[in-house]
Amino acid sequence: MSANDLNINGQYFVAQRATEKILLRVTNVCGMCYRDLHEGDDVYYDMQDYRYLCHECAEALSEEMLDAHEVEEAQPALF
Ligand SMILES: [Zn+2]
Repeated sequence: MSANDLNINGQYFVAQRATEKILLRVTNVCGMCYRDLHEGDDVYYDMQDYRYLCHECAEALSEEMLDAHEVEEAQPALF
C-alpha cells in the first residue's frame, strides 16, 4: 500500500508503477477504456475485478462508488 492508493469504502485500487511484467499480464491496455499503458505509467490494480486500470478510470470508478454509496444512504430506512 502507498499514499497513492485509492481506498473507497473498503474497495482498493492499488497504485503501481507499470513495469514490463505488469504490462505483459494486461496486454498493455487499461481494463476499462483500453487505452495503451506504457512502462512507467501509474496504473491501478482493481481488486474487485482483477484488472489494471489507468489513472482516469480508477478515479472515475472511485467516484462512481462514492456516488452509489451516497444514494444508498439517502434512501429512507425500511426497517
Ligand atoms: Zn482507462
